[in-house]
Amino acid sequence: MSLPTPRHLLNTLLTTLHQQHPTPASPGPNTLHTLPPSSQDLLLALSHLLPSTLLPALDLLDHRRVHRCRPAAHSKKYAYFVSSSSSATVHVVRPAAWWCSCGAFAWAAFGRRGAGGGAGEVMGMGEEGGLWGGRMRGEGDVPVCVHLVACVLVEACPGLFGGYVQEEQIALERWVEIELERR
Ligand SMILES: [Zn+2]
Repeated sequence: MSLPTPRHLLNTLLTTLHQQHPTPASPGPNTLHTLPPSSQDLLLALSHLLPSTLLPALDLLDHRRVHRCRPAAHSKKYAYFVSSSSSATVHVVRPAAWWCSCGAFAWAAFGRRGAGGGAGEVMGMGEEGGLWGGRMRGEGDVPVCVHLVACVLVEACPGLFGGYVQEEQIALERWVEIELERR
């Protein structure tokens, strides 16, 4: 019997966390400080699998640095803008495409691959996949950065993290710029 991959474990943990915190009817203030022990255990397990990104991602959410932006008030299209905790730089994040505009993500996705290790078979998009890794193919290491982890937590468990996101509408010109940045 083969052991589950980190990607499989992460998907299982996020799904279980979502089941413990169903989506509320309207996002309200919530806190990570009053979690039941079972949810604390899940976050602890996540921190072991994401030792360098989970806590900084939670910090970004706690400091309200994650914004979900749409080109129109009721548009189904959206992207996340995440401001760095150390500078005024704003990074664009698209969890469904498993992409962030920051340098750390570019390095995780392409740099290590070029150096002979790292992302391996996960490059490219397919139809398979769960919350973690989006539609990326393969079972290799999934490239991450703290911004992407913060947004994936929101997408995976809105009942727990949705209250930490700032909803915004942005100018259509800015939206077009975002679309062009991904090409
Ligand atoms: Zn990033």
